[in-house]
Amino acid sequence: MGHCIFCEIAAGRAPASIVARDDRVCAFLDIQPVNPGHLLVVPVRHAASLADLNPEDGAHLFRVAQKLTAAVRHSAVRCEGVTLLLADGKAAGQEVFHVHLHVIPRFSEDGFGFRFGTGYSELPSREDLDRVAASIRAAIEDARPSA
Ligand code: AMP
Ligand code: ZN
Repeated sequence: MGHCIFCEIAAGRAPASIVARDDRVCAFLDIQPVNPGHLLVVPVRHAASLADLNPEDGAHLFRVAQKLTAAVRHSAVRCEGVTLLLADGKAAGQEVFHVHLHVIPRFSEDGFGFRFGTGYSELPSREDLDRVAASIRAAIEDARPSA
């Protein structure tokens, strides 16, 4: 692994506005927030993608994100709702290849949102849904996180 900015932040070697830290995860403000209070929660131990993430680190990552969601809601930050977002892979929009869970405070008409592809409005048949579900079910055993 080469230089990783989130490893540097987690180790205290790069500047960041830290909100929470323990031996497994570190949470800090995003440098380019969607809305004020936008946080990133990252594992201290480097993992480029979900497939590399130790499941215990992953569980703790979510636990801390849940607690920080409550903290943001109780803080002075404008927050009527929260979007949790994790981009896994370039095609999903991942730009920093150290796993990070976004905690994004939301309020109505904040201008942020998802864009859907063409065809989104056409619902697949139950047959199609069942076929996809079967394919994913069959892959579950082989796809256990290895970390
Ligand atoms: P993603 O597209 O999910 O990989 O998001 C990467 C996020 O990391 C973006 O929201 C960036 O603004 C944020 N980011 C990149 N570098 C830093 C940094 N040095 N400190 C805080 N946030 C950062
Ligand atoms: Zn890293």
